[in-house]
Amino acid sequence: MYCSSECRQSAADQYHRVLCQGPSQEDPDHPINKLKDAWRSVHYPPETSSIMLMARMVAVVKQAKDKAHWQKLFSHFCSRAANEEEEIAHKLLGEKFRGQLAVLHSLFKAALYDDHLSRWFTPEGFRSLFALVGTNGQGVGTSSLSQWVHACDALELAVQQREQLDSFIDQLYKDIEKETGDFLNCEGSGLFLLQSACNHSCLPNAEASFPDNNFLLHLSALGDINPGEEICISYLDCCQRDRSRHSRHKILRENYLFVCSCPKCVSQMDELDVTSEEDEEEEGEAEGETEGDDMEDEMTDV
Ligand SMILES: [Zn+2]
Ligand SMILES: [Zn+2]
Repeated sequence: MYCSSECRQSAADQYHRVLCQGPSQEDPDHPINKLKDAWRSVHYPPETSSIMLMARMVAVVKQAKDKAHWQKLFSHFCSRAANEEEEIAHKLLGEKFRGQLAVLHSLFKAALYDDHLSRWFTPEGFRSLFALVGTNGQGVGTSSLSQWVHACDALELAVQQREQLDSFIDQLYKDIEKETGDFLNCEGSGLFLLQSACNHSCLPNAEASFPDNNFLLHLSALGDINPGEEICISYLDCCQRDRSRHSRHKILRENYLFVCSCPKCVSQMDELDVTSEEDEEEEGEAEGETEGDDMEDEMTDV
């Protein structure tokens, strides 16, 4: 679904011709549907759209006249060493599905193979693409419906019209809930070059949001930023940011494979023994891990 015919046209021009299933949209044997089905059976939300984001990257390059331009653009997203890519891929698939990467790879290849992009279709190249999307993919949540409802609320209407509209909206929400459960946001994911270039800080000076309720990501300053000062966002949500240094490091290490050396973490270096409530809950898991200063030497934000 598109917001306008211009949007639909630009999708067709950029990637949709390659991905269009036409009348085979419902055909379970269509290679793209097989890929989507396999993905659905191995992933867990919220990364629902990752595999199609990868497919879209391939489709963009396939359709583009200037293929090198797009390939170069994609190469700007951070890439990892092979062992890290493997770790990220396993992390994304979870322990239960770690063996499924090969299945996804062969379905991906069957659906989209292109000679110009042969390196993305080797097992290593596929894993690399998978890790790229996994680490750089930004969830885009928009709620066009609730925006529309707010706009309706703001209308000045005669009493009878207001009642009609309100009961229509009530019914609409009920109908949607029957289909989707109480989850009403539209979800997708995208790659944002500049935002991906921002490192993490536990005390970020900028924040990404989608105030226009579409795919346009806004990066807003959270305070004054001096010339030359690095713009940092936080990979942690605000609750996670309030946790102890130990807890933050655990989350960042497990999910993003780095040890944070932001000013907040550096200033709390001496507070290693301070345990927050959450830490106590995690103590069992955390035991046996080496959290020493030697790890701090490998501070490699990405
Ligand atoms: Zn189509
Ligand atoms: Zn930090």
